[in-house]
Amino acid sequence: MTVKLKDKEFVPFISAESIDQRLKVLGTQISKDFKNDNPILLGVLNGSFMFLSDLAKYIEIPSEFTFVKLSSYSGENSTGQVKSLIGLDTDLKGRRVIIVEDIVDSGLSMNHLLENLQVKDPLDISIVSLLFKPEALKFPVKIDYIGFEIPNKFVVGYGLDYDGLGRNLPSIYQLK
Ligand code: 5GP
Ligand code: MG
Ligand code: MG
Repeated sequence: MTVKLKDKEFVPFISAESIDQRLKVLGTQISKDFKNDNPILLGVLNGSFMFLSDLAKYIEIPSEFTFVKLSSYSGENSTGQVKSLIGLDTDLKGRRVIIVEDIVDSGLSMNHLLENLQVKDPLDISIVSLLFKPEALKFPVKIDYIGFEIPNKFVVGYGLDYDGLGRNLPSIYQLK
């Protein structure tokens, strides 16, 4: 079934079941890799809210959760400018940090965030991104855990928005 958000139509792309299955695999792997380390999962709002809350249920080790806000998008195209970084008040010194992102597109946001986190002197920083568009990458970034590699087409749902709408869709849709 297609979904209409403002002037755009979107078609089903990744089902809620596929997302859930993939999150279980990622959560199990992360739990293994960070056993005994009490990692800090750092969600990047707004887009990662649904991904992080579902992924968290598959993290089987004692972990902390915190959030920052960062946005570089308005509407359908990247503005190429990272806006503000808000809410980075957690002490990261000596800690293992796992950034939780909805999607890595050009990589600009992630590079900017990494720079801002490095100065807080964490033990190390890993990245988990639900979606990754390899063809769109302009600022190289190493993503440690990828949910799905997808083509360079605009997607919405499961936390991702088009002009503020669509975040509550339980699955992912692609621009028609
Ligand atoms: P980047 O800085 O990697 O170019 O973009 C990262 C941010 O842009 C993502 O966290 C996300 O908020 C937004 N973004 C990139 N591609 C898409 C997309 O296909 N759909 C939506 N809804 N947002 C996107
Ligand atoms: Mg994001
Ligand atoms: Mg957005």
